[in-house]
Amino acid sequence: MRILFLGTGASPSSPLPFCCCEFCRTSRMAGGKNFRKRSSLLINDDLLIDLGPDVFSASSQYGILLDNVRICLQTHPHGDHFDPEMIISRHPDYAAVIDNELTIIASRESLMVMDSIISSRCGYGSIFDEVAQENYRIRLMPIAAYERINYSGYAVRAYPANHGTPDQGFMIYSIAQGGKSVLYATDTAEIFEEVWHKMREYNECFDLIILDHTYGVGMESSDHLAMKGFAGHVRRFREEGMLKPDGSVYATHISHERNYTHSEFEAKAEESGYRIAYDGLRLELE
Ligand SMILES: [Zn+2]
Ligand SMILES: [Zn+2]
Ligand SMILES: [Zn+2]
Repeated sequence: MRILFLGTGASPSSPLPFCCCEFCRTSRMAGGKNFRKRSSLLINDDLLIDLGPDVFSASSQYGILLDNVRICLQTHPHGDHFDPEMIISRHPDYAAVIDNELTIIASRESLMVMDSIISSRCGYGSIFDEVAQENYRIRLMPIAAYERINYSGYAVRAYPANHGTPDQGFMIYSIAQGGKSVLYATDTAEIFEEVWHKMREYNECFDLIILDHTYGVGMESSDHLAMKGFAGHVRRFREEGMLKPDGSVYATHISHERNYTHSEFEAKAEESGYRIAYDGLRLELE
Protein backbone atom coordinates (compact mmCIF):
# COMPACT_ATOMS: atom_id res chain seq x y z
CA MET A 1 0.00 0.00 0.00
CA ARG A 2 1.47 3.33 -1.06
CA ILE A 3 0.39 6.50 0.73
CA LEU A 4 0.82 10.06 -0.48
CA PHE A 5 -0.26 13.03 1.63
CA LEU A 6 -1.63 15.55 -0.89
CA GLY A 7 -2.43 18.05 1.85
CA THR A 8 -2.07 18.17 5.65
CA GLY A 9 -3.59 21.54 6.52
CA ALA A 10 -6.91 22.52 8.07
CA SER A 11 -9.62 24.62 6.44
CA PRO A 12 -7.73 27.92 5.97
CA SER A 13 -4.41 26.25 4.93
CA SER A 14 -1.25 26.90 6.90
CA PRO A 15 0.19 29.44 7.40
CA LEU A 16 -2.98 31.51 7.28
CA PRO A 17 -2.85 33.70 4.17
CA PHE A 18 -3.08 37.06 5.94
CA CYS A 19 -2.00 36.17 9.48
CA CYS A 20 0.97 37.87 11.12
CA CYS A 21 1.17 35.72 14.26
CA GLU A 22 4.59 34.39 15.13
CA PHE A 23 3.76 30.86 13.95
CA CYS A 24 2.57 32.05 10.55
CA ARG A 25 5.49 34.45 10.07
CA THR A 26 8.07 31.81 11.04
CA SER A 27 6.36 29.16 8.91
CA ARG A 28 6.29 31.48 5.92
CA MET A 29 10.01 32.22 6.29
CA ALA A 30 10.93 28.53 6.71
CA GLY A 31 8.65 27.36 3.84
CA GLY A 32 8.93 23.72 2.72
CA LYS A 33 7.13 21.34 5.05
CA ASN A 34 5.50 24.29 6.83
CA PHE A 35 3.27 25.02 3.84
CA ARG A 36 0.16 22.91 4.22
CA LYS A 37 -2.57 22.58 1.62
CA ARG A 38 -6.07 21.43 2.58
CA SER A 39 -6.05 17.79 3.71
CA SER A 40 -6.46 14.89 1.32
CA LEU A 41 -4.71 11.57 0.79
CA LEU A 42 -3.96 9.28 -2.13
CA ILE A 43 -3.67 5.52 -1.62
CA ASN A 44 -1.79 3.67 -4.35
CA ASP A 45 -2.78 5.58 -7.47
CA ASP A 46 -6.49 4.83 -7.53
CA LEU A 47 -8.06 5.71 -4.17
CA LEU A 48 -8.44 9.33 -3.14
CA ILE A 49 -9.70 10.45 0.23
CA ASP A 50 -11.63 13.72 -0.19
CA LEU A 51 -12.20 15.72 -3.36
CA GLY A 52 -10.69 18.80 -1.74
CA PRO A 53 -9.97 22.24 -3.19
CA ASP A 54 -6.19 21.64 -3.33
CA VAL A 55 -6.21 18.18 -4.92
CA PHE A 56 -5.48 19.54 -8.38
CA SER A 57 -2.54 21.73 -7.27
CA ALA A 58 -1.16 18.82 -5.23
CA SER A 59 -1.47 16.48 -8.20
CA SER A 60 0.55 18.79 -10.40
CA GLN A 61 3.11 19.40 -7.64
CA TYR A 62 3.66 15.69 -6.95
CA GLY A 63 3.26 14.37 -10.50
CA ILE A 64 0.01 12.49 -9.92
CA LEU A 65 -2.36 11.51 -12.72
CA LEU A 66 -5.81 12.00 -11.27
CA ASP A 67 -7.40 10.08 -14.15
CA ASN A 68 -6.10 6.91 -12.46
CA VAL A 69 -8.34 7.61 -9.46
CA ARG A 70 -11.36 5.28 -9.52
CA ILE A 71 -12.52 5.44 -5.91
CA CYS A 72 -13.12 8.43 -3.67
CA LEU A 73 -13.81 8.10 0.03
CA GLN A 74 -15.46 11.31 1.10
CA THR A 75 -15.19 12.00 4.85
CA HIS A 76 -17.71 14.86 4.80
CA PRO A 77 -18.72 17.79 2.59
CA HIS A 78 -17.06 20.75 4.37
CA GLY A 79 -15.44 23.19 1.94
CA ASP A 80 -11.88 22.18 2.80
CA HIS A 81 -12.72 18.57 1.85
CA PHE A 82 -15.12 18.97 -1.06
CA ASP A 83 -14.71 21.12 -4.14
CA PRO A 84 -17.81 20.64 -6.36
CA GLU A 85 -15.82 21.53 -9.48
CA MET A 86 -14.03 18.20 -9.11
CA ILE A 87 -17.33 16.59 -10.16
CA ILE A 88 -18.85 19.29 -12.36
CA SER A 89 -15.78 19.47 -14.62
CA ARG A 90 -16.30 15.79 -15.59
CA HIS A 91 -19.46 16.81 -17.53
CA PRO A 92 -19.46 16.60 -21.36
CA ASP A 93 -20.31 20.33 -21.52
CA TYR A 94 -16.70 20.86 -20.43
CA ALA A 95 -15.59 18.67 -23.38
CA ALA A 96 -14.22 16.34 -20.71
CA VAL A 97 -12.96 12.95 -21.89
CA ILE A 98 -13.30 10.70 -18.86
CA ASP A 99 -11.80 7.21 -19.24
CA ASN A 100 -12.49 5.92 -15.75
CA GLU A 101 -15.69 5.89 -13.79
CA LEU A 102 -15.33 7.37 -10.29
CA THR A 103 -17.05 5.54 -7.44
CA ILE A 104 -17.80 7.88 -4.54
CA ILE A 105 -18.16 6.21 -1.16
CA ALA A 106 -19.69 8.50 1.47
CA SER A 107 -22.57 8.58 3.93
CA ARG A 108 -25.97 9.25 2.36
CA GLU A 109 -26.12 12.51 4.35
CA SER A 110 -22.79 13.69 2.90
CA LEU A 111 -23.87 12.72 -0.63
CA MET A 112 -27.06 14.75 -0.21
CA VAL A 113 -25.12 17.84 0.87
CA MET A 114 -22.64 17.35 -1.98
CA ASP A 115 -25.63 17.10 -4.35
CA SER A 116 -27.11 20.38 -3.12
CA ILE A 117 -23.73 22.15 -3.42
CA ILE A 118 -23.31 20.87 -6.99
CA SER A 119 -26.92 21.81 -7.86
CA SER A 120 -26.34 25.35 -6.60
CA ARG A 121 -23.50 25.70 -9.15
CA CYS A 122 -24.98 24.16 -12.32
CA GLY A 123 -28.12 22.71 -13.88
CA TYR A 124 -26.86 19.24 -14.76
CA GLY A 125 -29.32 17.49 -12.44
CA SER A 126 -29.03 15.58 -9.20
CA ILE A 127 -26.06 13.28 -8.76
CA PHE A 128 -28.61 10.71 -7.56
CA ASP A 129 -30.15 10.63 -11.08
CA GLU A 130 -28.87 8.10 -13.57
CA VAL A 131 -28.51 10.61 -16.41
CA ALA A 132 -26.30 12.92 -14.33
CA GLN A 133 -24.27 9.93 -13.13
CA GLU A 134 -23.71 8.85 -16.75
CA ASN A 135 -22.73 12.38 -17.73
CA TYR A 136 -20.28 12.74 -14.84
CA ARG A 137 -19.27 9.06 -15.10
CA ILE A 138 -19.71 8.67 -11.38
CA ARG A 139 -21.26 5.97 -9.26
CA LEU A 140 -22.49 6.60 -5.73
CA MET A 141 -21.96 4.01 -3.03
CA PRO A 142 -23.60 5.21 0.20
CA ILE A 143 -22.04 3.75 3.33
CA ALA A 144 -23.66 3.65 6.77
CA ALA A 145 -21.90 3.90 10.12
CA TYR A 146 -20.01 0.68 10.90
CA GLU A 147 -20.79 -0.78 7.48
CA ARG A 148 -18.00 -2.50 5.56
CA ILE A 149 -17.74 -2.33 1.79
CA ASN A 150 -15.43 -4.59 -0.20
CA TYR A 151 -14.69 -2.92 -3.46
CA SER A 152 -11.93 -3.11 -6.05
CA GLY A 153 -9.51 -4.91 -3.73
CA TYR A 154 -10.12 -2.58 -0.75
CA ALA A 155 -12.08 -3.28 2.43
CA VAL A 156 -13.46 0.00 3.72
CA ARG A 157 -15.28 0.43 7.01
CA ALA A 158 -16.94 3.69 8.06
CA TYR A 159 -17.02 4.95 11.64
CA PRO A 160 -18.84 8.12 12.76
CA ALA A 161 -16.57 11.13 13.30
CA ASN A 162 -16.99 13.35 16.35
CA HIS A 163 -17.43 16.45 14.18
CA GLY A 164 -20.63 18.41 13.69
CA THR A 165 -23.89 16.80 14.78
CA PRO A 166 -24.40 13.02 14.61
CA ASP A 167 -27.14 13.32 11.96
CA GLN A 168 -24.71 14.87 9.47
CA GLY A 169 -23.07 11.53 8.64
CA PHE A 170 -19.44 12.65 8.92
CA MET A 171 -17.15 9.63 8.72
CA ILE A 172 -13.66 8.41 9.46
CA TYR A 173 -12.53 5.32 7.55
CA SER A 174 -10.47 2.21 7.99
CA ILE A 175 -9.05 0.98 4.69
CA ALA A 176 -7.46 -2.45 4.31
CA GLN A 177 -5.69 -3.88 1.30
CA GLY A 178 -3.08 -6.59 0.77
CA GLY A 179 -2.76 -7.37 4.50
CA LYS A 180 -2.20 -3.72 5.46
CA SER A 181 -4.62 -1.47 7.27
CA VAL A 182 -4.91 2.31 7.61
CA LEU A 183 -7.19 4.49 9.73
CA TYR A 184 -7.88 7.92 8.26
CA ALA A 185 -9.48 10.00 10.99
CA THR A 186 -10.02 13.65 10.20
CA ASP A 187 -12.07 15.74 10.91
CA THR A 188 -12.83 14.50 14.41
CA ALA A 189 -12.52 15.42 18.07
CA GLU A 190 -12.28 12.62 20.68
CA ILE A 191 -13.26 9.34 19.06
CA PHE A 192 -16.65 8.20 20.39
CA GLU A 193 -16.63 5.40 22.99
CA GLU A 194 -19.01 3.44 20.77
CA VAL A 195 -16.45 3.66 17.95
CA TRP A 196 -13.66 2.33 20.22
CA HIS A 197 -16.01 -0.50 21.17
CA LYS A 198 -16.80 -1.32 17.53
CA MET A 199 -13.14 -1.15 16.50
CA ARG A 200 -12.40 -3.74 19.21
CA GLU A 201 -15.32 -5.87 18.04
CA TYR A 202 -14.00 -5.80 14.46
CA ASN A 203 -10.43 -6.58 15.64
CA GLU A 204 -9.02 -3.48 14.02
CA CYS A 205 -5.22 -3.35 14.16
CA PHE A 206 -3.63 -0.66 12.06
CA ASP A 207 -0.27 -0.34 10.34
CA LEU A 208 -0.87 3.37 10.00
CA ILE A 209 -3.15 5.80 11.83
CA ILE A 210 -3.63 9.27 10.38
CA LEU A 211 -5.36 11.48 12.89
CA ASP A 212 -6.72 15.02 13.20
CA HIS A 213 -4.33 17.42 14.96
CA THR A 214 -5.94 20.74 14.14
CA TYR A 215 -5.01 22.50 17.38
CA GLY A 216 -1.82 22.68 19.41
CA VAL A 217 -0.49 23.08 22.92
CA GLY A 218 -2.79 23.94 25.84
CA MET A 219 -5.95 23.82 23.75
CA GLU A 220 -8.98 21.64 24.35
CA SER A 221 -10.43 19.42 21.65
CA SER A 222 -13.68 20.86 20.33
CA ASP A 223 -14.80 19.66 16.92
CA HIS A 224 -11.18 18.68 16.23
CA LEU A 225 -8.36 17.22 18.32
CA ALA A 226 -5.72 19.35 20.02
CA MET A 227 -2.24 18.18 21.09
CA LYS A 228 -3.22 16.83 24.53
CA GLY A 229 -6.19 14.86 23.18
CA PHE A 230 -4.10 13.62 20.27
CA ALA A 231 -1.34 12.25 22.54
CA GLY A 232 -4.02 10.54 24.66
CA HIS A 233 -5.39 8.85 21.54
CA VAL A 234 -1.91 7.61 20.57
CA ARG A 235 -1.53 6.01 24.02
CA ARG A 236 -4.96 4.47 23.84
CA PHE A 237 -4.47 2.99 20.36
CA ARG A 238 -1.34 1.26 21.70
CA GLU A 239 -3.00 0.13 24.95
CA GLU A 240 -5.99 -1.26 23.06
CA GLY A 241 -3.64 -3.21 20.78
CA MET A 242 -5.02 -1.40 17.73
CA LEU A 243 -1.63 -0.26 16.48
CA LYS A 244 0.77 -2.91 15.19
CA PRO A 245 4.13 -2.99 17.04
CA ASP A 246 5.87 -1.52 14.00
CA GLY A 247 2.92 0.71 13.14
CA SER A 248 2.94 4.49 13.22
CA VAL A 249 0.65 7.41 13.93
CA TYR A 250 0.80 10.60 11.87
CA ALA A 251 -0.83 13.94 12.62
CA THR A 252 -2.67 15.77 9.85
CA HIS A 253 -5.23 18.60 9.34
CA ILE A 254 -2.88 20.98 11.14
CA SER A 255 -3.80 24.61 11.74
CA HIS A 256 -1.82 27.53 13.15
CA GLU A 257 -3.47 27.75 16.58
CA ARG A 258 -0.70 27.03 19.09
CA ASN A 259 1.03 24.50 16.88
CA TYR A 260 4.77 24.42 16.13
CA THR A 261 6.70 24.84 12.94
CA HIS A 262 7.37 21.45 11.36
CA SER A 263 10.82 20.65 12.75
CA GLU A 264 9.93 21.71 16.33
CA PHE A 265 6.62 19.89 15.99
CA GLU A 266 8.36 16.64 14.94
CA ALA A 267 10.59 16.76 18.03
CA LYS A 268 7.63 17.40 20.39
CA ALA A 269 5.53 14.69 18.75
CA GLU A 270 8.32 12.14 19.04
CA GLU A 271 8.13 12.49 22.84
CA SER A 272 4.53 11.27 22.62
CA GLY A 273 5.24 8.53 20.07
CA TYR A 274 3.83 10.02 16.89
CA ARG A 275 4.96 11.77 13.72
CA ILE A 276 3.87 14.89 11.88
CA ALA A 277 2.76 14.45 8.28
CA TYR A 278 3.58 17.05 5.65
CA ASP A 279 2.44 17.75 2.12
CA GLY A 280 4.14 15.40 -0.31
CA LEU A 281 5.05 12.78 2.35
CA ARG A 282 5.10 9.30 0.80
CA LEU A 283 4.90 6.14 2.90
CA GLU A 284 5.09 2.55 1.74
CA LEU A 285 3.42 -0.14 3.84
CA GLU A 286 4.93 -3.52 3.04
ZN1 LIG B 1 -11.43 19.95 7.64
ZN1 LIG C 1 -1.17 32.75 12.34
ZN1 LIG D 1 -14.86 19.52 8.76
